[in-house]
Amino acid sequence: MTIFQKIIDREIPADIVYEDDQVLAFRDIAPQAPVHIVLIPKRPIVSVAHAAPDDALLLGRLLLAAAQVARELGVDGAGYRLVTNVGQHGGQSVFHLHVHLLAGRPLHWPPG
Ligand code: AMP
Repeated sequence: MTIFQKIIDREIPADIVYEDDQVLAFRDIAPQAPVHIVLIPKRPIVSVAHAAPDDALLLGRLLLAAAQVARELGVDGAGYRLVTNVGQHGGQSVFHLHVHLLAGRPLHWPPG
């Protein structure tokens, strides 16, 4: 079981900023920007590499939730970045699909 499943199950605490029937979003425990939110599907999928065609709606819901959270936190005007890390070279450390919402400072491109 991943740490994110424990957050879904309320076994460990998290600073939750958004929840609906399929998506949960909470503040990252080690923020890389002034605003750093992690958005996850409640249904466990390892990464986008493991997503199936049936997951298309859920993946869309994740992105729409990210945009909603960005609006609610007031960072949509200045802009933000959405990232999903996949596997070892992608820097994935928690193997439950998630989207990072990073905002609150200029974000450089390309990332290091
Ligand atoms: P990734 O490296 O893309 O797999 O991202 C995993 C993210 O989860 C990292 O940014 C971690 O800081 C974050 N994280 C790990 N444990 C927790 C936790 N208990 N609560 C909130 N964020 C967490």
